Amino acid sequence: MEKVVFPKPVPAERQPPGLTPEIVLPGIPEDERVWVPVYPGAWIRPLLLNKTHGYWTSLLRVRAAGVVSCHRHPAPVHGLVLKGSWRYLEHDWVAREGDYVFEPPGETHTLVVDEDVEEMITWFLVSGSMIYMDEQGRTTGFTDVFDRIEICRKHYASVGLGADYVDQFIR
Ligand code: FE
Repeated sequence: MEKVVFPKPVPAERQPPGLTPEIVLPGIPEDERVWVPVYPGAWIRPLLLNKTHGYWTSLLRVRAAGVVSCHRHPAPVHGLVLKGSWRYLEHDWVAREGDYVFEPPGETHTLVVDEDVEEMITWFLVSGSMIYMDEQGRTTGFTDVFDRIEICRKHYASVGLGADYVDQFIR
């Protein structure tokens, strides 16, 4: 086998000026304070809260039997299941560990984690917003990246990590 010789790294001065710092985060956090409660029995671990492009990406953790109430997505969603399983009441498939899910704009659904699943953790990238609806299809509220930032800020202040803990996730 021929030995691979790595090229020299790009020197810092060749990086574009004003480059936004990268975000590198450890896997599923053990520090419970990092998980932000967002619905009954559901938490998010923010990864990137992108207010420039209007999306957020986070780990969603739901413990059984949990529900994310009915909502519509006006923009696409991507998800990858890291642990456990979940489903939508509106579809006949189940998302299991390792599965990838794409939700097209317009998708309107209710996420549930069944009682036999102890916990699910899924990476989600949600663009735009989540528009919550009642059973008659009337809008009852919404979540967007700015709302997520404020929920995280309040939570991190309350658990002693500091309100500015959220700033590391914002671009
Ligand atoms: Fe959704």
